[in-house]
Amino acid sequence: MAEIGRMSINQATTREQHSLAEAIAAYAAHGVTGISIWRDKLAECGLDRAVSLIGEHGLRVSGLCRAGQFPAADAAERQARIDDNLLAVEQAVALGADCLVIVAGGLPEGSRDLPGARSMIRDALGAVLPRARAAGVPLAIEPLHPMYAADRCAINTLSQALDLCDELGEGIGVAVDAYHVWWDPDLATQIARARGRILAFHVCDWLVPTTDLLLDRGMMGDGVIDLPAMRAAVEAAGYAGLIEVEIFSAANWWRRPGDEVIRTCRERFQQAV
Ligand code: ZN
Repeated sequence: MAEIGRMSINQATTREQHSLAEAIAAYAAHGVTGISIWRDKLAECGLDRAVSLIGEHGLRVSGLCRAGQFPAADAAERQARIDDNLLAVEQAVALGADCLVIVAGGLPEGSRDLPGARSMIRDALGAVLPRARAAGVPLAIEPLHPMYAADRCAINTLSQALDLCDELGEGIGVAVDAYHVWWDPDLATQIARARGRILAFHVCDWLVPTTDLLLDRGMMGDGVIDLPAMRAAVEAAGYAGLIEVEIFSAANWWRRPGDEVIRTCRERFQQAV
């Protein structure tokens, strides 16, 4: 089972319990190795303060969430989103993040042109990538489950994300999130294909039944994903980075005390990942 020293917690897991400063202190107090930071929480905290708190507590930043959200109805808005991604690159540099997580965005409002949205994503990644390369911050495209294609992310499979990586070249890879890709019949082939380009591995579980498509993710071991098998595949493809627990759970884990959530993450990480 997974070695606890490789665990990072995505701060969304205790989003309702902790500010960024509180999450950093709590995770460090529980001996957690890493944290993945969300930009809305970062904005509340302030970048300089976040950088010093991270240093003070000795946490590794496994990722900065999230950039992307590229498709938009007009050129000015598309450029504004590219500019925001360039800012996110600078934030990731300051935090020493292992990668900048890209959730690419869905359809512009009123649009039915999914191929067009995907073209916008490719073009915008091409515009952000030179700065990310120069800064040494890898861009991690996170394919999201197809149920989010309209409103969050039109990149929905590892295959699609890796095709983009093939096209765009150096400095870009994928974030493999178990919740989003576990169902894919092509998963094993695509994880093997991703060798050298896996920048992050996110874990939680798929509950049966799932009561909310966004905010009912399960704790590892409570659902139906074979996480040890997926970890083995990701590691066989060369991934040796931190493994990030990322649980959005409005009705359950967000309602429990933060210490209980972190303790449970530690236990389940060792038992079920
Ligand atoms: Zn994720």
